[in-house]
Amino acid sequence: MRVFEDNEGLQVFRCPACREYIDAATQRCRFCQTTIEPEAARTGVRQQKAHNKLERKKDYSAHLYRGGALFIVGVFVIMATYYLSEALLGTDFIWFPRALIVGGGADFLYGVFGLLSERKAC
Ligand SMILES: [Zn+2]
Repeated sequence: MRVFEDNEGLQVFRCPACREYIDAATQRCRFCQTTIEPEAARTGVRQQKAHNKLERKKDYSAHLYRGGALFIVGVFVIMATYYLSEALLGTDFIWFPRALIVGGGADFLYGVFGLLSERKAC
């Protein structure tokens, strides 16, 4: 009995009995020896995929918010620096907000493109 869909790679789900991760193609849990019905495996894989997708989205969202916040702090510090004293711009201090802008911006974009790729995937 074929359980996986084509070109989906290795599919795993949690055994209904012992909650260990097992291969969707198996007919018997390798941990607790419970017999796995193909329908249960299909349902399990579907639930696992939905769960994984949700976790990836949470992770990308965290990157997006954290990166966006750092970026904004960096821009704010640069602007405050310009406003308060142009003399500060010649100092080594300026690397700090620039690092926030570059690092935060990169993290933000990682989150944005990650979330976009998740939308396409379904
Ligand atoms: Zn099991």
